[in-house]
Amino acid sequence: MRLSKFFLPVLKETPAEAKIISHQLMLRAGMVKQTGSGIYTWLPLGLRVLKKIENIVREEQNRAGAIELLMPTIQPADLWKESGRYDAYGKEMLRITDRHDREMLFGPTNEEVITDIFRSYVKSYKQLPLNLYHIQWKFRDEIRPRFGVMRGREFLMKDAYSFDVNEVEARKSYYKMFCAYLNTFSRMGLKAVPMRADTGPIGGDLSHEFIILAETGESEVFCDAELVNMPPPGLDLDFDSDLLGEFEKRTQYYAATEEMHDQTKFESEVPEERRVSARGIEVGHIFNFGTKYSEPMKAKVMTPEGKEAPVHMGSYGVGVSRLLGAIIEACHDDKGVIWPEEVAPFKSAVVNLRQGDEACDKACEDVYAKLRATGLDPMYDDRDDRPGAKLSTLELIGIPKAIVIGPRGLKNGVVEVKDRISGVTEEMSLDAALNKLT
Ligand code: ATP
Ligand code: MG
Ligand code: MG
Ligand code: MG
Repeated sequence: MRLSKFFLPVLKETPAEAKIISHQLMLRAGMVKQTGSGIYTWLPLGLRVLKKIENIVREEQNRAGAIELLMPTIQPADLWKESGRYDAYGKEMLRITDRHDREMLFGPTNEEVITDIFRSYVKSYKQLPLNLYHIQWKFRDEIRPRFGVMRGREFLMKDAYSFDVNEVEARKSYYKMFCAYLNTFSRMGLKAVPMRADTGPIGGDLSHEFIILAETGESEVFCDAELVNMPPPGLDLDFDSDLLGEFEKRTQYYAATEEMHDQTKFESEVPEERRVSARGIEVGHIFNFGTKYSEPMKAKVMTPEGKEAPVHMGSYGVGVSRLLGAIIEACHDDKGVIWPEEVAPFKSAVVNLRQGDEACDKACEDVYAKLRATGLDPMYDDRDDRPGAKLSTLELIGIPKAIVIGPRGLKNGVVEVKDRISGVTEEMSLDAALNKLT
């Protein structure tokens, strides 16, 4: 992408309304614009990152055997009256009336809609297990939208729903998602800690939140440092195998959010030097809630014993848009964002320090073409701007690797390679620079 032909409205000043670094940087780097309270437009740079995050989530859901569909954003209120949640959900739900006076709502979550889909088609245990997910915009009329996309009113969520014939099978589905989540967040360069959590209005008995430790997090969390540093199960995990071991390996350690925290237990189970008491950002939340929705909504299947029984369900959410904020909270310095490779809007960049200089233009065009040929999706700063401004934009938007080409270096046959993650700048020949990036 040529920056001269891109739309990158970077800001010089930090907008006063942005209280935390991720929000400030997202506005300054021209990633999002607030369109209304808690409602954001995704500008081209932000959208690129959002799509990368979405795609990692999708790949790991697919790997774990979940199947993608797409449910609507607008839902009929009748389904929620059936489950009994229409009144219980309260003011966070945006209620809408259509021209025929029918009650509708903008979905804050999709348990009712998916249960209705399930009961329309699935009648036998032979069609189970089943896990259906979508990645769709949600609306929650948050009382205090803040921190940019971290607590928006409109936000993108991945929500998966599992269906099993009984509790034993339902737990297996839960373990699959538990492991898939660890792999998902790890691919984004994040250490997400699974913590026992309160089930809240979704209901059920088994629930974990996935928390990114960060000072600006809204939840208070307590856990064992061993768990924070444990590597994820890995992308070669066999999701058809018994995953109880992977689950127990982690759940043996103390980890709880504020609502579930027990200080006495924390102190007796975790040696003092391993006690982590910190703030965290909830980026995912999984629930096993049995027949809470299938019973009132009559989603039943025939069991192997030939009896009809309500299907056992779980639901599994990832805050896709919130993750942008969470990643920036975890990966930045005073100059800007430092994107982990897998989610970077561009993996590499070419910066022309003197646009219009024949030798510089030629060298840059050549490198840009070669990087494109390797499928690296590079950005080329070919704007007619001051070198200092170009370099600070590069740092602000956090491209992992860049080749910086200027007239002085070219005369000596060298260019600069800047690594945003290590912070190292090296001089080398053009060929060596290309080798370094590809
Ligand atoms: P929170 O405690 O932050 O209000 P929640 O517990 O209400 O979140 P869930 O119902 O568990 O949220 O939804 C699944 C995921 O969706 C959350 O883990 C979070 O990552 C994301 N999410 C929830 N609310 C928002 C929001 N207002 N803006 C952005 N992401 C959100
Ligand atoms: Mg909430
Ligand atoms: Mg929560
Ligand atoms: Mg939650």
